[in-house]
Amino acid sequence: MPASAPLMSTYARLPVAFSHGDGPWLFDTNGRRYLDCLAGIAVNTLGYNHPRLSAALREQVGRIIHCSNLFEIPLQTELAQMLVERSGMTNVFFCNSGLEANEAAIKIARRHGHDRGIDRPEIVVYEKAFHGRSLATLSATGNPKVQKGFEPLVEGFVRVGLNDIDALRRIAAERPNVVAVFLEAIQGEGGIRVADAQYLRDVRALCDETGWLLMIDEVQCGTGRTGKWFAHQWAGIVPDVMPLAKGLGSGVPIGAVVARGAAAEVFQPGSHGTTFGGNPLAMCAGVTTIRVMEEEGLLERAAHLGALIQSGIVRGMEVTGGLVEVRGRGLMIGIELDRPCGELVRMALEAGIVLNVTAERVVRLLPPLVFEGAHADLLVERLVPLLQRIVTAPAPGKA
Ligand SMILES: *Cc1c(COP(=O)(O)O)cnc(C)c1O
Repeated sequence: MPASAPLMSTYARLPVAFSHGDGPWLFDTNGRRYLDCLAGIAVNTLGYNHPRLSAALREQVGRIIHCSNLFEIPLQTELAQMLVERSGMTNVFFCNSGLEANEAAIKIARRHGHDRGIDRPEIVVYEKAFHGRSLATLSATGNPKVQKGFEPLVEGFVRVGLNDIDALRRIAAERPNVVAVFLEAIQGEGGIRVADAQYLRDVRALCDETGWLLMIDEVQCGTGRTGKWFAHQWAGIVPDVMPLAKGLGSGVPIGAVVARGAAAEVFQPGSHGTTFGGNPLAMCAGVTTIRVMEEEGLLERAAHLGALIQSGIVRGMEVTGGLVEVRGRGLMIGIELDRPCGELVRMALEAGIVLNVTAERVVRLLPPLVFEGAHADLLVERLVPLLQRIVTAPAPGKA
């Protein structure tokens, strides 16, 4: 019987179980060590067993884990303050995951529309987008595999291609019920596709013109991963609504929606809520994560190491070719090959690296932000030969 037999088969799991970690290193139950280049899918910002985070969480567990939003939670105020200072926005709602943050953003957009007399509000979403697996967020997602079999989908979404401002202008001309534009600053699941800085500035300008809310899903690309607190900051803009999750708690489940202007005032008592969201344990994780990132200079390091890894991969692949593109920012990197490369995940495990492949032919690197220069070098050194093996293998059936 496979180890996961009583579990629903939502994941085709790799046959490895990790018992513990240390910094960017993971150890499996046989004591083998792996360099973690995935961070639990952009979650473990501070790596494993960071002494500051572990101590803070232990202390918090000894005080109070949960108490309900019926009461004041000072740590919520503290984390909200940290997020508004770093985003230039004004108000925060805390929840527990990415889809919950996005679900809240969608509700904000819809009610914002109703407040303005639009009874059937529409939200612009993107091809190849990923926003989660609740009914509303999977409907916003631009991947038929995520939606298949769950119809009828939630209505009220209009889809466009990324980085095509003319398509968005046409929507502005043709669809009076649109209330918001909802996109990832860097598409994660879709294959590390970056929204151009100029595109984001154009979308911001169009939103200002039309009164649409600009809602940027920073669930994966946010929290310092790209070398700025939030990936859209590379374009010098500020959104109206920003969902966060993954890396914000460095492993403790957490979600947040940051907003400003009219969007920050949409929710009133009774219009939205959560039992677990904003609990003291998760807030302690968020506050400590941000503090440690700042004190250890992890943003600067992410930007620097990301550039180093990207150029190392490009150089390594010059020998064999087969590299379509390396893209991303900071420690959110996509390596697109000229062919499907799903088997790379197992090859990498054998070589002592944990990584992920998305969109069939894109190797996705999301290492913890405690990575150091030596880890980046080791990653390139171990990964390049594997990539070369993939792109030089004879095509199946032609061997
Ligand atoms: C992972 C992800 C989500 C969903 O987050 P969950 O915590 O799995 O619900 C939403 N948006 C983006 C961009 C993501 O990467």
